Amino acid sequence: MLESKSMGKDAKKKLYQLLLNLSEEEKDEIIALLSGMKMQGENNLCDRISEIRARRFKGGYFCPHCASSMVVRFGTYRQSQRYRCKRCRKTFTDLTSTALNFIHDKGKFFASAEIMLSGATLEETAKAVNISIPTAFSWRHKVLDMVKNTED
Ligand SMILES: [Zn+2]
Repeated sequence: MLESKSMGKDAKKKLYQLLLNLSEEEKDEIIALLSGMKMQGENNLCDRISEIRARRFKGGYFCPHCASSMVVRFGTYRQSQRYRCKRCRKTFTDLTSTALNFIHDKGKFFASAEIMLSGATLEETAKAVNISIPTAFSWRHKVLDMVKNTED
């Protein structure tokens, strides 16, 4: 126990030393690598939104207000495709009346969902994604609802 603890400390120290000794070029490389990872995360988010869209509109597009299928594309809203119903004239997005529609920081939401589904506690999740515990709690319910809904 003691040994592995001190080894972890050593490894961290070594990593820190390594980072300090990097040349400007190497630092640029690492920054490029990290921003590439960040972009990948954003693409991932778009993939997930299209996944939800595909599941939701499996049986064709329909209006969540009146269930009409007379629906046309109507621009975009916060990276979601927006639609308008020709029958009731109301607009909606891919995420309207799904739990996600009410969450502004969808990146954080998906990150926390992944952490939750890996079995982390509320406290661990809240800390990892930098959200409050009540937020983590309410998101956990949304995650569980989504999992339930997509299993149908
Ligand atoms: Zn309608």
